[in-house]
Amino acid sequence: MQDRPPSDNLRVGFGTDIHRLVTGEGVKLGGVLIPCTYACVAVSDGDVLLHALIDALLGALALGDIGEHFPHSRVASGEDSRVLLAQILNLVHANNATPVNVDCVVDLEVFKLAEWKPKIRDSIAGLLGIDPGRVNVKAKTAEGLGPVGAGEAIAAQVVALLALGAKNG
Ligand code: MG
Repeated sequence: MQDRPPSDNLRVGFGTDIHRLVTGEGVKLGGVLIPCTYACVAVSDGDVLLHALIDALLGALALGDIGEHFPHSRVASGEDSRVLLAQILNLVHANNATPVNVDCVVDLEVFKLAEWKPKIRDSIAGLLGIDPGRVNVKAKTAEGLGPVGAGEAIAAQVVALLALGAKNG
């Protein structure tokens, strides 16, 4: 029988999310509350970045999507998405996998994310239990196009690489 190639121990996943923006007192991104005059419409705390990250982790292990694991009927109003991520990370570890690195994009027109990116990166690294050097956070505007460009929405995309058989913790 042929040995498995080393790359067979790696799994890549991709996740996206988008939430409507309304007038409010802050937006949660990557587990960080950013005070501003906007808020995301959501059942949970509306953290698009953590929701996209959850879908990327699930995708890497062919474990479905966030809606299957957390249907709206089972999510408390305003629920902290860090709690949801912790549950999915437990599932990742139970599948003998561990995150290697993640690359994140936030699409946002209504305020600049530059000063928040290091804090968001550190937050995600802490939540995943990996070095901040394994987390990248990018911010883009939509050049005035579409719902993000109109300031009506905030979106995120995340790619996550997982290693199988790696020691957890
Ligand atoms: Mg969401």
